[in-house]
Amino acid sequence: MQVSLLSSNLSCRNTKNNMNSCQQAGARTNMAFGQIVKNNLSKVLNVAEEGIKDKFVCVVSGPSGVGKDTVINEFDRVYDFFARVVTCTTRKPRPGEIDGVNYHFLSPDEFRKGIENNEFIEFVNVYTDTFYGTRKKDIDSALATGKNAVMAIDVDGAMKVKKERSDILMMFITPPSMKELAARLRGRGTETAKAVSERLQKAKYELSFKDKYDVILQNDDFHKSVQEMAEIFHVKK
Ligand code: ADP
Ligand code: 5GP
Repeated sequence: MQVSLLSSNLSCRNTKNNMNSCQQAGARTNMAFGQIVKNNLSKVLNVAEEGIKDKFVCVVSGPSGVGKDTVINEFDRVYDFFARVVTCTTRKPRPGEIDGVNYHFLSPDEFRKGIENNEFIEFVNVYTDTFYGTRKKDIDSALATGKNAVMAIDVDGAMKVKKERSDILMMFITPPSMKELAARLRGRGTETAKAVSERLQKAKYELSFKDKYDVILQNDDFHKSVQEMAEIFHVKK
């Protein structure tokens, strides 16, 4: 498929900053959980007594198989905090995946038309012959629910989104080890051996971006990761 990168125009939503309350909130986060590394959370989250005030878009990255979907889904099942931004892909649905829920599954032609029409805030060719991209309208739809938005995208896409909008909180999820990452990816059983090896190769590249994120969360135990997310976002059951 032939595609060219097109620049996208986005109107940015301004996020107010309350440095004092945010700094206090940040300090609590650091003390509570040794595994969270926080870079500049207070630049994005406007924390008040009752929780986070301004709506934001949480962009979650991390190597394939690290547990992004598992953690986000469980966090949302418990706290009902996020609306998922449904992103687009040209890969085929896995068993159980539903069009419009897990992804918008597009044909290469449909994807190309979306690029030509400047519909994407970002898109990438993550793996051989497979395109992934986030449409601006799908971010708007998620925020229109009145909730915060969340999307799991790769590091290159995340860097583009970060440049386009001011309401982005960047979260990176790391595995406890590469061995565990490989075990999770193989254990999921959704990829061929070739695809697993391609994803593990890409993992090293993705991990090299982690310090560019606002929050780094190590997913050892997914219940603990969910609890840590709740702490970061100041939500209670
Ligand atoms: P990603 O969305 O990052 O590609 P998934 O959420 O699909 O990853 O998780 C990959 C596999 O790892 C799944 O089989 C999931 O059940 C498992 N998994 C997720 N988090 C953990 C964890 N903390 N410990 C062990 N297995 C996990
Ligand atoms: P999977 O095929 O396992 O669902 O996803 C593979 C990778 O593509 C994951 O790292 C996922 O986060 C990323 N991804 C999914 N949607 C998008 C998107 O819209 N844009 C970008 N850049 N990456 C995406």
